[in-house]
Amino acid sequence: MTGLRSVLIANRGEIACRVIRTARRLGLRTIAVYSEADRRALHVALADEAHAIGPAAAAESYLRIDRILDVAKRSGAESIHPGYGFLSERPDFAEACAAAGIVFVGPPAGAIRAMGLKDAAKALVAEAGVPVVPGYHGARQEPDFLAAEAAAIGYPVLIKAVAGGGGKGMRRVALPEDFAAALEGAQREAQGAFGDPRVLVEKYVLSPRHVEIQVFCDAHGHAVHLFERDCSLQRRHQKVIEEAPAPGMPPEVRAAMGRAAVEAARAVGYVGAGTVEFIADGREGLKPDGFWFMEMNTRLQVEHPVTEAITGLDLVEWQFRVAAGEPLPLAQDDLAIRGHAVEARLYAEDPAAGFLPSTGRLRALDLPAGEGVRVDTGVRAGDTVSPFYDPMIAKLIAHGESRDQALDRLAQALGRTLVAGPKANVAFLKALAEAEEFRAGRFDTGFIDRNLDALTGRAAGLDPDAVRAGVEALVAAVAAPAPGRGSPWDRADGFQLGAGRRQAYPVLIEGEAREVVLAWPEGGGALAVEAGEGRGAAPVVVPTERGVLVVAGGRQVAIEPPDPFDVDLDHAGAGGTVKAPMHGRLVAVFVRPGERVTKGQRLAIVEAMKMEHALAAPADGEVTEVTAEAGAQVAEGARLISIRTEDDA
Ligand code: ADP
Repeated sequence: MTGLRSVLIANRGEIACRVIRTARRLGLRTIAVYSEADRRALHVALADEAHAIGPAAAAESYLRIDRILDVAKRSGAESIHPGYGFLSERPDFAEACAAAGIVFVGPPAGAIRAMGLKDAAKALVAEAGVPVVPGYHGARQEPDFLAAEAAAIGYPVLIKAVAGGGGKGMRRVALPEDFAAALEGAQREAQGAFGDPRVLVEKYVLSPRHVEIQVFCDAHGHAVHLFERDCSLQRRHQKVIEEAPAPGMPPEVRAAMGRAAVEAARAVGYVGAGTVEFIADGREGLKPDGFWFMEMNTRLQVEHPVTEAITGLDLVEWQFRVAAGEPLPLAQDDLAIRGHAVEARLYAEDPAAGFLPSTGRLRALDLPAGEGVRVDTGVRAGDTVSPFYDPMIAKLIAHGESRDQALDRLAQALGRTLVAGPKANVAFLKALAEAEEFRAGRFDTGFIDRNLDALTGRAAGLDPDAVRAGVEALVAAVAAPAPGRGSPWDRADGFQLGAGRRQAYPVLIEGEAREVVLAWPEGGGALAVEAGEGRGAAPVVVPTERGVLVVAGGRQVAIEPPDPFDVDLDHAGAGGTVKAPMHGRLVAVFVRPGERVTKGQRLAIVEAMKMEHALAAPADGEVTEVTAEAGAQVAEGARLISIRTEDDA
């Protein structure tokens, strides 16, 4: 149908699955690649054929241009779709494909390169008449010079990595005295993430809205925009919920932004799908002179489905057509917006614990589609969310006639979503979809941070319904041990059924020792667990090797019988052991053995899944041991630093 007969998808997860779907509909043979960790992944199962390309670490598999091209040649792939992330914005990859005679389903290498460095890209589009944020986008990097530039721009300012992406190497600075420390942090993060410590400094736009324009260009000189997406609901500069169109977008601003985006694309000779990101001053609504170019992403975006929903188009199909040399299927005047669409990124992470990434096997997974709801995922129940890649589980996309209807549908879909195993942000997303201010269209990129406690439910604490359901399931397991193995509650067989009585019962809830009260009614009858007033969400109980996971209202609680051995270990270490909170890379260690530390002092920094976590001393004392060096990969729970506390002495 497009003239292309086959495609290798140089990616994994939901985007690989999504590309395969369209490629198959267009009649292309689909070729998957996979790392050792993905041997049984969904994208491998969906493709017509699949080839191993190396170990789990992306640097040794999904980022290996040589191995991917080798598979492409061996399998006779006529084209390569890079998805997003990984190699999608690497000009050398686009060049290597061309050199091998393979069609790269993406823009020309020159366009990727031109947009790859934020400072150069800004200069380029500014020349084409596109507004850019005031700031210093030059080459000088001395701290004093940059501080002087910041002062000239006027606080607050934003420090950004020149090579940036995904919010990395970015720091907002409100006061001149904080500039030096923020600069150092941004440079370190930029060096770690991109191997390039250079930064730029720009004006921090107040009440910022992130509004981006989807553009499409063909090789025949046609260029259109497919309207905007509003991605202002962000946490740590990462998108959480995206929608199209942008709430409160006046037609003249849409036209102005669309024009500017197309100009930016034309300025670099763009071909294919791209997104031009603007930052808008949202203090008094969107204005024709109140938006500025931030960057252009030269690939398909994670949030492209909301544009597909409101335009009724398949953007991956357009990508294939353009890559095959066809002209754009539609002209600007043929395009129109139908209804409203929202997308939520469902992540394996724990919002109540600072959004720590959460890994492990998906013991239960139910992602219900419904009227107007689309689910894009790369995993099934039983699959493992590994620490090696982005821990996104799925994207839920809801489309409706109005914004309210789309958000209602999203909230309903989230209400029916079940994830057990890794913790997930289901309840957080649902709270966002239902948040009054957001529903009213009053939000900017700071909305989530300002409302964090309410949205994460951190203040709400344990749900008694969940505790009750979990303990009842554990007690039932005692009464009827699974065949062939002892009950997980072997040690806890001290109670007998009898006359009405109550008994305090020890359990571990989320690893913490607690007591619940078991009550047997007088004269027999069902056992009841007294745990307090519930919240009315029907709990789902999922057994594990050690106990149960209870999911209620989109939140998961682990309930296990007490294990004296584990508890002792924890207590022994509690005073003076600093453990890695998750799989990740140890970025910095600030202390050495023999050094005295005080409670709360920063000891080390671990980085995982695009986030830095500072590890603090749990108590006053003396460092006795440092077991890992900066740069090392560390496993979740690994002991990193030992401290002899005053109590130990
Ligand atoms: P990255 O490439 O790392 O994702 P971006 O330049 O796209 O970084 O910016 C990410 C987010 O940071 C934006 O969506 C916006 O929320 C915020 N941001 C970027 N520049 C500014 C600015 N000048 N003022 C205010 N917020 C900004």
